[in-house]
Amino acid sequence: MRKDKDDCCGCSACAARCPKKAIEMRPDAMGFLYPVIDEKKCIDCGLCVKVCNFHPNALDRHEITVKEVFGGRLKYEELLAKSQSGGAFWSLATNVIKSHGVVYGVAFSSDFVAEHIRTTTLEALEKLRGSKYVQSRIGDVYREVKDDLENGREVLFSGTPCQVAGLYGYLGPVSSANNLFTVDLVCHGIPAPQVWKDYLSYIEKHNNKKIVRCIFRDKSYGWGSHVETFYFADGTKSSNYVFRDLFYSHLVIRESCHHCPYANLSRVSDITIGDYWGWQRVSSRFNDQKGVSLFLINTDKGEKLFKSAQRVLEYEKSHLEDCLQPQLKGPAFRPDNKDKFQKDYLNRGFGYVIRRYGFVGWRYNLKTAINAIILFNKKIKWHINHRLGL
Ligand SMILES: Cc1cc2nc3c(=O)[nH]c(=O)nc-3n(C[C@H](O)[C@H](O)[C@H](O)COP(=O)(O)OP(=O)(O)OC[C@H]3O[C@@H](n4cnc5c(N)ncnc54)[C@H](O)[C@@H]3O)c2cc1C
Ligand code: SF4
Ligand code: SF4
Ligand code: SF4
Repeated sequence: MRKDKDDCCGCSACAARCPKKAIEMRPDAMGFLYPVIDEKKCIDCGLCVKVCNFHPNALDRHEITVKEVFGGRLKYEELLAKSQSGGAFWSLATNVIKSHGVVYGVAFSSDFVAEHIRTTTLEALEKLRGSKYVQSRIGDVYREVKDDLENGREVLFSGTPCQVAGLYGYLGPVSSANNLFTVDLVCHGIPAPQVWKDYLSYIEKHNNKKIVRCIFRDKSYGWGSHVETFYFADGTKSSNYVFRDLFYSHLVIRESCHHCPYANLSRVSDITIGDYWGWQRVSSRFNDQKGVSLFLINTDKGEKLFKSAQRVLEYEKSHLEDCLQPQLKGPAFRPDNKDKFQKDYLNRGFGYVIRRYGFVGWRYNLKTAINAIILFNKKIKWHINHRLGL
């Protein structure tokens, strides 16, 4: 087990592997889970250290380099609309389910806690659709994956790169089983569960209504717009940008994300999926704001999985240099005011920090107005240069 809190991504592999059940994953004040050892139960076997893969040399990843790159999306509009990007996950997962396999991924519980679950039906698979921008609880799924593999079931495990690495750590040699397929996300960093919980309470209080459903990136505003929409018990809804802005500010992401060993092209999984940002520069197809997925095919198993999905996809071969978004080049920067923000959040609460740091209120309005003026000036300059042929 890693001793430094900043070097722990919360994958839970150590807790799952401990033969004495001496490790409990406990939330800190931000709601992030960290392992805590019960010294009375610990027998010093060292297994928790051995399985921890959250460091650059943990996995023998020199062999896992991206083999092929594709941009693509689901052929069917109604299915595409329900996926966050181009439906890469759905295309890969449905085949596994249809061949009686098992798919693991992240769903919301009834009170909007993100958690990894096991699914064996298309109906249950629906719950895994859509990005939940908050760290999921792994719970018992690593053990369930191992049982499924040993029982000969085909398994697709999806998650953040560090969760896939955590699974490999837990499985040890079993991770090379032919019936295991892994899919990781291009990962920007993972927001704090407590902040998410506070935000939900804030929205409910502000609207005086109970939330029954939420979408982090509401595609009805366009794929790239990143608007979060909350549906209430009385049938009304409200759309915002607050959590998006918190996410991109990096003020609420886990400390380990600032030195993530997986934010590069040495991928951990068989296939990496993400948004194909910048696709409009690559091709004239699919440019309708309905979403385009990036597929990085990293292994032979990944190739096999992608082939099985091609029947439901429209896709084009692409190149690494065209899809290199920041999270494939390095970890998210750590803002200078992060310590101050977290201190203020813990001492003065969510409502205070979102006003003070300009996520709502007059500071937000001022920031938005300045950004609009900058954008307007840029557009004017572009038009003038265009007319002058510069
Ligand atoms: C925290 C986070 C950060 C991301 N950062 C980027 C980024 O910087 N660049 C980029 O291109 N893409 C990023 N993505 C991925 C992107 O948002 C889409 O999830 C991805 O493109 C898949 O979309 P889809 O249309 O294939 O499928 P969907 O059906 O929309 O995707 C669902 C998949 O996402 C998984 N998932 C959902 N929430 C979580 C979670 N909290 N933790 C782990 N797995 C989860 C599900 O298990 C399932 O595999 C991020 C996703 C998350 C959750
Ligand atoms: S195995 Fe995962 S949860 Fe345990 S210490 Fe390492 S990174 Fe943290
Ligand atoms: S050293 Fe062994 S027994 Fe002790 S916490 Fe780690 S895995 Fe558990
Ligand atoms: S950025 Fe890295 S450490 Fe953070 S959630 Fe993503 S994969 Fe894990």
